[in-house]
Amino acid sequence: MNWKKELANNITTVDELEKALQKEFSKEEKEKLNEIVKQYPLSIPHYYLSLIDKDDENDPIRKLCIPSTKETDLTGSFDTSGESNNTVVVGLQHKYKQTGLLLSTNQCGMYCRHCFRKRLVGLNSDEIMNHLKEIIAYIKEHDEINNVLISGGDAFLNNNRIIHSYLEDLSSIEHLDLIRFGTRTPVTFPMRINGDQELLNILREYSRKKKIYVVTHFNHPNEITKESIKAVKNLLNSEVVLKNQTVLLKGVNDNPDVLATLINKLTAIGINPYYIFQCRPVSGVKNQFQLPLKEGYHIVEKTKSKLNGHGKCFRYVMSNKRGKIEILGNLSDTTMLFKFHEAKYDKDMGKIFQLDIKDEQCWIEEASIK
Ligand code: SF4
Repeated sequence: MNWKKELANNITTVDELEKALQKEFSKEEKEKLNEIVKQYPLSIPHYYLSLIDKDDENDPIRKLCIPSTKETDLTGSFDTSGESNNTVVVGLQHKYKQTGLLLSTNQCGMYCRHCFRKRLVGLNSDEIMNHLKEIIAYIKEHDEINNVLISGGDAFLNNNRIIHSYLEDLSSIEHLDLIRFGTRTPVTFPMRINGDQELLNILREYSRKKKIYVVTHFNHPNEITKESIKAVKNLLNSEVVLKNQTVLLKGVNDNPDVLATLINKLTAIGINPYYIFQCRPVSGVKNQFQLPLKEGYHIVEKTKSKLNGHGKCFRYVMSNKRGKIEILGNLSDTTMLFKFHEAKYDKDMGKIFQLDIKDEQCWIEEASIK
């Protein structure tokens, strides 16, 4: 089936969800869920829903796609890393000198409950690219930019004509070394890739002009299925490089055995682990999914003890307004060590710093970094 028709079949209402799960929500629960999906839309491909163990209320896949009444807790922020302040042309962020970040769409194959761009996915298009010409002109003028990340939403939710025009324009810019796509479609909606030879041909054609990286977002070993493996194989056959970023999430992958299984399986199918992200304090997400930093560090270190050298090729990081900060580890029971892996300001480049961290602390404020 054509992927657009398949996407149009996604579960998008609480009534449809009840039917698909063969479960009736209580009246109160249903009212709350209806309120939540008005604010944070619901969209689940039937494929992804089929990965849930319907008898297990704590199923990790369920947590990733089905709204929870906990989403009504709005403590936290909608823009935890100051993305809107880094916008230089509508749809283009330039936070790190060498990287242009393009918000190409506010659509996704699925709306993940832990998304850090909840402020815009499926909702707001104010920050979404609407003039590619201006963006290309900006990138051409800034030869310090050596790579462009096409993100969203989900970059592969753009149609092939648009993807083709991005690649045509960007691949002709000499100072770009590579073009990256950020997509969760291999995980949540692999039919976008497996059912579309035209997309694969475009990727292969432009991979030969400019290196293309596709950054996927697998969070749990149950997401590695026949279909997702096929999508990965198809992408590799199109000569792109595959990397994966995972978000460390309470109740989903906060277990070294789960995380190690995920990473070992990813390396086995040809995806290089890139980042493990500390979950951001996003409104509607924080309360449900965030783990304390100290606990996160222990989970990641235990995970590493089960991985080979290739599996360990990731960094455990958090992205805040000043940069991407690597969480290096515990110095004592009360102190942790951090390092700027990427920095918005020159003064922070490579800076190593220590902070007193409370046991339950999940984030660090920019102002506390001296
Ligand atoms: S696919 Fe990515 S951008 Fe879209 S909802 Fe999921 S995490 Fe957010």
